[in-house]
Amino acid sequence: MLKNEMILINGDILTLSKKKERAKSLVVKNGKIHEIDPPLPQDIRSTDQREVIDLGGRTVIPGMADCHVHFTHVGLGLIFPDFRGASSVGDILDGLSTALKDHPRDQMLLGWNFDENLFKERRLPSIEELDRVSGGTPIWVNRIGMNTSVFNTRAWERVHLPLTFASIPTGPLGNLLGSISGDANWVALARVLNALTDDVRMQAFQAAAAHVAMKGVTSIHAMEGCFSPNMPDQPDFACLEIPCLIQNKDRIDVDLAIWYQHIVDYEKDVARVKAFGLSRIGGDAFTDGVLGAAFGPGVLRAALSEPFTDDPSTRGDLLFKDEEIEKFVWLSWQAGLQFSAHAVGDRAFAQLMTSYEKAYQKRPGNGRFRIEHATLPDRSWLKKAIDMGVIFSMQPAFDYYSGGPEGRYAKRVGPERARLTNPFQEILHAGGMIVGGSDAPVNPIDPIFGIHCMVNHHYPEQRTSSLEALKAFTFNPAYSVFEDDRKGTIDIGKQADLAILSGNPLTVAPSRIKDIHVEMTIYKGKTTFKSLHI
Ligand SMILES: [Zn+2]
Repeated sequence: MLKNEMILINGDILTLSKKKERAKSLVVKNGKIHEIDPPLPQDIRSTDQREVIDLGGRTVIPGMADCHVHFTHVGLGLIFPDFRGASSVGDILDGLSTALKDHPRDQMLLGWNFDENLFKERRLPSIEELDRVSGGTPIWVNRIGMNTSVFNTRAWERVHLPLTFASIPTGPLGNLLGSISGDANWVALARVLNALTDDVRMQAFQAAAAHVAMKGVTSIHAMEGCFSPNMPDQPDFACLEIPCLIQNKDRIDVDLAIWYQHIVDYEKDVARVKAFGLSRIGGDAFTDGVLGAAFGPGVLRAALSEPFTDDPSTRGDLLFKDEEIEKFVWLSWQAGLQFSAHAVGDRAFAQLMTSYEKAYQKRPGNGRFRIEHATLPDRSWLKKAIDMGVIFSMQPAFDYYSGGPEGRYAKRVGPERARLTNPFQEILHAGGMIVGGSDAPVNPIDPIFGIHCMVNHHYPEQRTSSLEALKAFTFNPAYSVFEDDRKGTIDIGKQADLAILSGNPLTVAPSRIKDIHVEMTIYKGKTTFKSLHI
């Protein structure tokens, strides 16, 4: 039972508020911060109505946010087999056989995150192999990064993509080979998700909420719907996970700021977002491809101003024409919506910022527009972007995994340009705001690790202070979706979203930040995670 009052005592409470920076005790009532450091009797105890928690000196921070999460996919990855690290086709087939044992036969069985480069066979599972283990159940398994998938005959029958669609590979007899990539895969994936039941969707959402609570997360900025501009040709195609998420928000124990990224027809998309009562659009909509990920079939490259070092024949791919993105941004801004889009390379950065500048020229204001990733910002645009109030939604784990002189960025673009990637300190120094995220399921949801990566950037000149990094996962996210009046700091009257940590990220040695554990998470005054230690 949820007691209506919770009292936290003996804490080291970092409020991130200007009013009172540090406190020892907190009273939470009806889901909100009710009092900070009130006079309390020495021997205060729990009662039927009141839960008293002795923090034993632990650090308390505002509940954290992850500002870039593919929430539906994270949830589906939790309730269906995750093949990350699988080392053979046999592993996949065994995993599917096990999962099929208690799976309803007529429902699609999904699988996620395999990487055939790690398989000893160095190839994808075939349609025949999947048919053989399936027992008639439709099976759809996605590669890590979701650029390629494999499926069996039953699943293909449900998806109904014409074989002429976007170069679907076929064998010598015109037979289906059982794998697709790129645009065909995005379209197929959207249809596969539409074939799920709301029950399955809810299982996925609730699994994802429980998962993020373990990491101290109380707010998610969810990137939902299709995200390639080359998406289904039918203007009335709807991503059904979005209405399900909206209708059931109250049954999911984490705040969700939904970024609707479905792009079929700009006018219709704007109207649809308004009809849903949502206030933002774009999200992770691709304006270009990727920089750090392994390139393979269906993977598009980031759009750069100069050619790639590992393939000088290309400067990467812009997915929108200038006039298209300008129209999309303008229609959104005209309708009062907040806008963001995925832009990794400097050429995509410049294109997106140009579209923002043009929209603001037509109708001045500050819509708190964001840019997702901004991995290699165009330096001639950086200050102008900041002056327009553009917020940088970045995923520090990418620097950890792909940055540095030996990393994947350096292989793609050479050491000089790699040194310009994920420029956290440069953005802050110019007066910009960064909001932190993971891009889960690409990187794990783990804001403490994100803070660690900002403070320990590969290049010393781009490292931030731990306070700046902490704000990137607490206050700034709230600001970036117009929720700073009710979240992001520990202040009286704000939502009681708290994370209780095993150590203080502001005082621990920078190299040890990642070793801090979340020991308890409180969302709207309710305990959503508690470790054994507390
Ligand atoms: Zn993205």
